[in-house]
Amino acid sequence: MPSLATLRRDLANFARYHLVQRAETHPARTDDMGIVPLPFDLDAYVERLRSLDGARFEVSEEARVEYRGRAHPILCARSRAPAGRPSKTLLVLAGVHGNEHAGLLAVPPLLERFDVERARLVVLTPVNPVGAAELSRFNAEGYDVNRDFVRFATPEARVVRDVFDRERPDFVVSLHEGPQDATFMFANRFVDPGLARALCGALAAGGTALAERDYFGLRLTPPGLSASSRTGRAVTKLWALTLGMKASIAYSEDRAIPEIVLESSWRMPDLQARVRPHVDLVNAVAARL
Ligand SMILES: [Zn+2]
Repeated sequence: MPSLATLRRDLANFARYHLVQRAETHPARTDDMGIVPLPFDLDAYVERLRSLDGARFEVSEEARVEYRGRAHPILCARSRAPAGRPSKTLLVLAGVHGNEHAGLLAVPPLLERFDVERARLVVLTPVNPVGAAELSRFNAEGYDVNRDFVRFATPEARVVRDVFDRERPDFVVSLHEGPQDATFMFANRFVDPGLARALCGALAAGGTALAERDYFGLRLTPPGLSASSRTGRAVTKLWALTLGMKASIAYSEDRAIPEIVLESSWRMPDLQARVRPHVDLVNAVAARL
């Protein structure tokens, strides 16, 4: 465990990401703040996802992002099921922040075992492929994609917007990691409180340790859940009005779509313990849609 002083410094550093949309001018490597990098290789990841194109999933290239003469694909995997069933669409965003690898590494095992009868699953990944390749939170120009849902200055945020428009999701799950010491989720105001508690229960039942506090140090009740609050929504509104920044969870809220942002702990060296909550959460949401 980090010392309290280290944790406080890391949290203060992390807070700075909430004040600027463009913290860097390039996909700066972000592996401080206690991040334990996981074995992630973009080419191998893309290859593995493409190999899952078949009877259960259609895997196609949604867009390409150029960086240093290389084209990095953003893939879209869509489950195939009989027309009209299942009727509800669950959209998963994986890798909005490229250095948060657990959510990316969760996608292949998720697709391999997903019950396509439960929900129409659409996975967009990696949303920020340059960041994923460079172990960076940011995109090729140093923008934080998850602050760009007001201005849509980044190609990545525009791709997400296009996928929302086309797929019309009933529920969105965005897979992230953070500097806190265990897993928790943010839920927007359209996530039913009973459902949110049931999802925390499903994570705990699967062996995931739930955080008592979020990465701002706020106590979570129940553990693992940062629910939407009036204060939180006011801050979000102010953030958009004054700084022109908005995260996907607020973009969904504007469209009356429930969204959960899952945050596993990037401090954990155990690959399975970091990947598991992402797989479990998507399955638990699909089972309850
Ligand atoms: Zn993130």
